[in-house]
Order: sequence, then C-alpha cells, then structure tokens
Amino acid sequence: MTSISANLQAVSARIVAAARAAGRDPASVRLLAVSKTKPAEDVRAAAAAGQRAFGENYVQEGVDKIAALGDPGLEWHFIGPLQSNKTRPVAESFDWVHGIDRLKIAERLSSQRGGDLRPLNVCIQVNVSGETSKSGVTPAEVPALARAIAVLPQLCLRGLMCIPEPSTDQSLVRSRFAALRVLRDALVAEGMTLDTLSMGMSHDLEAAIAEGATIVRVGTAIFGERQLPPHQDRTASH
Ligand SMILES: *Cc1c(COP(=O)(O)O)cnc(C)c1O
Repeated sequence: MTSISANLQAVSARIVAAARAAGRDPASVRLLAVSKTKPAEDVRAAAAAGQRAFGENYVQEGVDKIAALGDPGLEWHFIGPLQSNKTRPVAESFDWVHGIDRLKIAERLSSQRGGDLRPLNVCIQVNVSGETSKSGVTPAEVPALARAIAVLPQLCLRGLMCIPEPSTDQSLVRSRFAALRVLRDALVAEGMTLDTLSMGMSHDLEAAIAEGATIVRVGTAIFGERQLPPHQDRTASH
C-alpha cells in the first residue's frame, strides 16, 4: 500500500469516528483531497485508492492537472482565491468553486460556463473570524449575495465555506464552524436549498464535523507537507 492510500484510510477513519461521535451518518461527510502543489502522480495514486474529489488552489496548476489525469470520473474543486481575469479556465474545467466572495466573480463564472456543461457548483466563502486581511464576505453580507447568486443560470449555489483563523483553542474553532452552520440554516429557513458546509482541514476536521461539515478539505494529512506554491500563481493570486 502506498503512503497516500494509507493516509487516505487514516483520514477516512477520522471522518467516520468524528461523524459517529456527533451522531451523524459518516456518509454525510465527503472528503475533498487537496492536491495543490503536489504532482499529478500523487493524484493518480489517490484516485487508484478510490478517492474521487480533488481540490486545487492555483488556476494554471489545476487546469494542467485536470488535463494530465484525463479521468472524467474525477471531480475537481477550485478552492483558492480567484481573480476576475482568471475565471474562464475555472468555469470551463472545474466542477466546484468554494471561495466565492464577490458577485462579479459569480457572474463571470456563470456567463463563461458552457451551456453544454452542468451548472458549476459554488459555495460562498464567509469570513467567520472577522479578520480584515482574510478573504470572504462578512456574515451580514451573506443573504444578499446568496440571493443574487441563486438566480445565475449556470451556477448552482450549494452552500457556505470558511477557513477560520489558526488557533489551538478548540472551543474558539468550534464556534467559528458553528457560526457558518447558523448562517446556512438561516438561508435554508428562507427557502434556499443548500446542502453544503465546506469546512475543516487536516488539523481541525473533527471540530468541523461536530458542527455539521459536509465537505472537509484535507491536504497535508493525505499528501504530506507542501513546498511553496508555484511561482506564477503565487504572484498572481489576490
Ligand atoms: C490548502 C488548503 C486546504 C488543506 O489544508 P491542509 O491543512 O493541508 O489540510 C484546505 N482548504 C483550503 C482553502 C486550502 O487552501
């Protein structure tokens, strides 16, 4: 067994244990394997072990990897910051975008998504930590943005996503995840069909699952520590 498939099993076991501890069906939590900065061989190894959904942060790297894998059975999620001049390749190649925080980006993705493709699944990124430096809309901005996105023809608004500030304080981290769930529940109460809470990474997926995560985004615990991101994308992102 490769270390990637062993790591995948270990992460899956963590997800199952966390879901059971929360009284949830383990099948209600999907694992998104975050392969950013990792070579296509690593994605291939994970795919051979049965992993289907992969997350990428950098447009060119992601598009190249999607082409290199050439496997229509895989599902690709764009989870990085997205500039408006780079929406087209994302609209054309990915299945999901998690970090929507401006209507303009959503409108471009919708108009650039080919009519022959299924609508692009999107999540609104919410800044649950209140840090001015982080991307994501404020909780107060979520309802208006959600309503505006919900009517775009080639997008399917699936839910909300967050990246809380790094902290060793478990109760603080849980309160951030809980805040995202409360926001999602408020939109559902308004009549929106939102089935996704994208939250939790390698170090905090248990807390996220306890608060209702339906997609956990896990990189390091599957593929190992990362080197620096590729140069062209580092200078171009946000
Ligand atoms: C890199 C990244 C992850 C994965 O983080 P790990 O700590 O390596 O599990 C998850 N979500 C986003 C948005 C990321 O950029």
